[in-house]
Amino acid sequence: MNNTVSINTQLSNKGSALNFPGGSKVNTQASTVNQNEPTTRDDSFVEVPVKLTKEELVSLSRIDPLRSTFHIVAEWSMIIGAIILCQHFWHPLLYLVMVAFIGARQHALMILMHDGVHRRLYSNRKFNDWMAEIVLAWPNLISARAYRINHFGHHRYLNTLEDPDWARRQGDDAWVFPKKVWDLGQILLRDISGLNAFRLLMLARRLVSKDTGMTRSFVMVRYAFYAVLAVVIGFAGLTKPVLLYWVIPMFTWLIFIFRIRSIAEHSAIDGRDAAYAQTRTVYPTILERIFLAPKHVNYHLEHHFFPSVPFYRLPALHALLLTKPGFADSAHLTQSYLGVLKECLGGKDRAAEPAESILPSFAMEGATSSGAD
Ligand SMILES: [Zn+2]
Repeated sequence: MNNTVSINTQLSNKGSALNFPGGSKVNTQASTVNQNEPTTRDDSFVEVPVKLTKEELVSLSRIDPLRSTFHIVAEWSMIIGAIILCQHFWHPLLYLVMVAFIGARQHALMILMHDGVHRRLYSNRKFNDWMAEIVLAWPNLISARAYRINHFGHHRYLNTLEDPDWARRQGDDAWVFPKKVWDLGQILLRDISGLNAFRLLMLARRLVSKDTGMTRSFVMVRYAFYAVLAVVIGFAGLTKPVLLYWVIPMFTWLIFIFRIRSIAEHSAIDGRDAAYAQTRTVYPTILERIFLAPKHVNYHLEHHFFPSVPFYRLPALHALLLTKPGFADSAHLTQSYLGVLKECLGGKDRAAEPAESILPSFAMEGATSSGAD
C-alpha cells in the first residue's frame, strides 16, 4: 500500500493528491519534497516542462497485471524456444544470431525489472518486488532492491554528481563525447567480445554492497537461490547449455547493447532547452527493437518526465506529448540507435532541426489513447 508514485512536478494543477490503483496516495505539492530522503522517490527536482492533466496521467499510469505477466512469460518463453531451436538446428551462424536474440531477451528482463523497481508491474507491493527480484533481476546477477536505490537517485538528481550513474562515469574516458570513430569502435568491440565482462561483474557487485540497504536475511535468501540453482544445473547436466545460452549472451551481446542504450539515454545531447537536454528518445528500427531496445525502452525522455507510466503505455504517452506545446520542438528525438552513435561522433544534432521532420508516422497515431502498446 506504499506504492508511491511521485508526480508532484508533472501536473498542470498542483496542490492536490491522487490515489493510484495500487492504493498509493500521491502528493502533488512540490513543496513536500523531502531532500533528506533522496532514494525513496522517483521524481526529479527539475520541473517537467510539459504538462499532463490529472486524468491523462492517472489513465496512463494504470497498472495492468495481466499485461505485466504476459510480457514476463513471453520473454522467458522466447528464451527457452530459442535454445530448443538452436539445439535442434545447430549451426554456428544460427548460434551467433541466438546469442544476440537471447542477450536482447536478457535486456528485456532487465527493462521489466526496471518497471518493477518503479513498482509498475503489480499493484501489490510485495508481489511486485519479489517478482522483480526472482524472475527478472537475480537471473541477470543483479538485485532489484539495490538497483532501486541507485535508480531513484538517478531519477531525482539526473546528470548531477548526486546521480549515481553520472557520478560513476566521471573520469571515465569511455563516457566522454564526442568521440572519434575508432575510439567508439574499440569500446564497442571490447563489449561485444566479452573483454568488458569483468567490469560488468564489478558493477553488479558494487550494486549489492552493504550500503544498498538490503537486510542480511535478504542477502542470504539471494545467495541460497544461486546455490540451489547451481546444484540443480549441475545434477541435471545443464552446465554447458547454461554457459552457451545464458552466460555467453550476457557477457557479450547484453553488455554491447546495454552500452549503446545507456549512451542513447543521456549522452551526447545538445538540447536548446535545459529541461529537454538531459535525455534522448530514439525511434528504433524493427531490428533494433528485437535485438537492442525492447519494451519501449527507447522512450526514455517520456520515462524521466513521467516515471509512473508503465512501459507498455510509453508509446501512447509519447503520442500525447507530441500534441502538447513545446514537446515536439524541444525534445531530442533521434532516428535509430545508429543515429545515436553518429551523434556521439559529433554528427548532426537532431535537436537543432524541427522535430516534425524525423517523426515516424506511428508517432502521431493514438494521441488520445492511453492503451497502445
Ligand atoms: Zn527509471
